[in-house]
Amino acid sequence: MTNHLLNLRPGQVPHTTYKKAILAVGATEGHGPHLPTGTDLFIAQGITEDIAACFDDMLVLPALSYGVSDNHMMFDFTLSLSPETLIAVLQDILESLFIRGIFRVILINGHNGNTAPIEIAGRRAHQRHPELKVVSMPAWWTCAERLLPAGTLSDDSGWHAGEMETAAALGYFPDLVDMSLAQDCPPRLPYSPLLDVKYTIAEMSRVGNVGRSSRASREKGLAIREALKQEAVRFIRRLDEMDWDYAVTQSPQ
Ligand SMILES: [Zn+2]
Repeated sequence: MTNHLLNLRPGQVPHTTYKKAILAVGATEGHGPHLPTGTDLFIAQGITEDIAACFDDMLVLPALSYGVSDNHMMFDFTLSLSPETLIAVLQDILESLFIRGIFRVILINGHNGNTAPIEIAGRRAHQRHPELKVVSMPAWWTCAERLLPAGTLSDDSGWHAGEMETAAALGYFPDLVDMSLAQDCPPRLPYSPLLDVKYTIAEMSRVGNVGRSSRASREKGLAIREALKQEAVRFIRRLDEMDWDYAVTQSPQ
């Protein structure tokens, strides 16, 4: 907790101590009867804490508790930002970090509605300030399965509050999950790793979660948690070894 910005006094946050900052981007939205409203925030914070614990120079920023959840508005108790608002907030935070002298930022996303705004804000910030390097984990639920041994999760585990996300919740905050309330709501929509459909959750589910949540377990969640941490830490350590200098030289050979 000593690396949390909100716990530090001004003199304790020199950019020589904290070379990089990490920000969890969450959401406040319904996740079916069995998961808390803060699920996306808590997962993003859990990933963030696991990563930050592995680095001495990583500043943990106050998390964003709201995200773009407009396609969940019919389910309690969703509060949403517009995509434009989230882009603007992220741009302002990145700009502030640049002004404060922190040029390496990691964005950890917990919610699919935030993926596009994070992409836009991150690209814009880097194009405006090439010294500002932005790394994001834009959609952990689309790649967690590939980081795990084959067969750990079902092929269609990645739906909203389905098997994968419910397992992750059990891995990060089991005390807030009530599996006795979990209802399986397999979608009618077919799954493709290549194509997606712009749907509302009300079109996909009667209760707010999609997929087979009952297949989740804490064991699967802890496997997801460890896999996400290992891959993120491996990648950030590699960037550190390169001093985040990943651009090819443009000078003639
Ligand atoms: Zn979620």
